[in-house]
Amino acid sequence: MRFTRLRLNGFKSFVDPTELLIADGLTGVVGPNGCGKSNLLEALRWVMGENRPTAMRGGEMEDVIFAGAATRGARHFAEVALSIDNSDRLAPSGFNDADVLEVSRRITRDAGSAYRANGKEVRAKDVQMLFLDASTGAHSPALVRQGQISELINAKPRSRRRVLEEAAGISGLYQRRHEAELRLTAAETNLTRVDDVLEQLA
Ligand code: ATP
Repeated sequence: MRFTRLRLNGFKSFVDPTELLIADGLTGVVGPNGCGKSNLLEALRWVMGENRPTAMRGGEMEDVIFAGAATRGARHFAEVALSIDNSDRLAPSGFNDADVLEVSRRITRDAGSAYRANGKEVRAKDVQMLFLDASTGAHSPALVRQGQISELINAKPRSRRRVLEEAAGISGLYQRRHEAELRLTAAETNLTRVDDVLEQLA
């Protein structure tokens, strides 16, 4: 799964529509302090379905919306769109009907986030799974933020294992297992209730 373009509009310091072409061989972003390097990485994570405001260095998710500056008012929404080369049709069914897959996420004040894939509304969960299965999810170790290397060196073995699992592309399986366990527990509870009712009828 190759990312080809990132578009931002109203996301953090990127108040005006901005486009970043992700050319072959791009491995890092350099620039003066405060120019928005980390915001770019956060935009990538965000569009892939990150749902922890703290991972965006904020208190609430709406904090990703441009908050205003001395000469410009705050924006009402933020949008990030990520284009993916899908010419080999590797994206899962439901996503794989075009050469370029564009996944976008938009957040509006007081209305939360909405996701689209090539213009069609999709669920957050489907977007998260799409990237998790491709080993590029919102927590992907391929996106290295400042301080992350030293954190990893000092991390406990369990945390390091999570990084390896993410890189191996099995995090999506853990998510599915968790959901299956929840459904199983609900089914067991229903069975117990059925037993109770049967006992009362007997
Ligand atoms: P450094 O090299 O110092 O880590 P950086 O290039 O990674 O800097 P970022 O942390 O990406 O820079 O960007 C910080 C800038 O983004 C700050 O000027 C901050 O005010 C601005 N910023 C963050 N969130 C918002 C927001 N919601 N609205 C407006 N500006 C924002």
